[in-house]
Amino acid sequence: MKPLASAASGLPAHGVREIMDAAWKRPDAIHLEVGEPNFATPAAVSEAAIAAIQDGFTHYTSNAGIPSLRAAIAASMQRRSGVPCTAEQVVVTPGAVAAVATSLIALADPGDEVLVPDPSWPNYVQWLLLQHSVPVPYPLRQERAFVPDVADLEAATTDRTKVLILNSPGNPTGALFPREAMAELLAFARRRDLWVVSDEIYERIVFDGEHAFAAAADTDGRVVTVSGVSKTYAMTGWRLGYAIAPVAVARVMASLQEPMQSCVNAMTQKAAEAALTGEAAEGDVERMVAAYRRRRNAAVEIVRQAGRYRYTPRGAFYILVDVRDTGMSSRELALALLDAEGVAVAPGSAFGAGGEGFVRVSLATDDGPLTEGLQRLCRFCARAAAGRSA
Ligand code: PMP
Repeated sequence: MKPLASAASGLPAHGVREIMDAAWKRPDAIHLEVGEPNFATPAAVSEAAIAAIQDGFTHYTSNAGIPSLRAAIAASMQRRSGVPCTAEQVVVTPGAVAAVATSLIALADPGDEVLVPDPSWPNYVQWLLLQHSVPVPYPLRQERAFVPDVADLEAATTDRTKVLILNSPGNPTGALFPREAMAELLAFARRRDLWVVSDEIYERIVFDGEHAFAAAADTDGRVVTVSGVSKTYAMTGWRLGYAIAPVAVARVMASLQEPMQSCVNAMTQKAAEAALTGEAAEGDVERMVAAYRRRRNAAVEIVRQAGRYRYTPRGAFYILVDVRDTGMSSRELALALLDAEGVAVAPGSAFGAGGEGFVRVSLATDDGPLTEGLQRLCRFCARAAAGRSA
């Protein structure tokens, strides 16, 4: 038998999965490893999908999405970013994950280099390897509150570099890029003539300050903005994301949907439209963001009291906790913590070499288990560090 495709069989494992799978074997485990809102989808959103099914809205749609949803996405983008945006620029995809993948197929050939934040969501690297493009990591440093340094980007850029991936608010860091930093990053992209794929899926989940849209700093049409409803509206299982791109790029991206998924399921598109246009869902978003902010504050306080405070996440729903003093790798620590304390956290190394020395704690968990889990994590680290120096 001939072997499977090399890119497929050689795909690196997703490092959070190992912990998730181990944690599911322990019914008493506290789950701080998954980036999944612990809220129900707003009722008005679910009702719109049910109505769509009952109305027989159960057939193929156009590749780029139904016109009313594309218009709602464009209007929401324009309102929030102040950047003019038309429905023609919008491509609706099954999750933001597919918006990232579709953008990257549209922009990068095999062998082209793509600048990827380190640490970052592992799916960027996974996808680039699948399409035989070359992920080139650039560091996000804790001393800079995990905001990219243009000098690092310059150093990582070659003649083969085609695309720069940005992610703010960031997973796993919770970093929020200031407006001036975003302007500098776009100036760099123009100087080196790079496309920019800006993953802004956490754009509404901001605790301090304001989200800076990459598109607002784009002066010559090189930004593809990726976003979606999964995080903002607690709709991860519905699978709906989108990309907003210059019209010529959006047309190509829409055509790419045909051989991959043709279109997003019709009733989910109606649900997303209800989420983006309805007033009821807005109230739910505000309540969810308030809960994440409260948990962020509690988490910062716990790590501060444990002497582990390094920075304050300003958006998304994660905090990286420094575990370097334990002398353990983040993977060893995550496995040992689960074993000893029944707490699951994501090892920083799952997000790239730059995540080593940290573990990621998700704030999308209820307040009680979150504070209990964090306290156990800090206690465990203190014991490990003391055992080491004894
Ligand atoms: N981008 C980032 C940075 C994420 O963290 C995630 C989900 N973990 C996604 C995209 C994917 O979102 P979706 O569920 O809409 O595919």
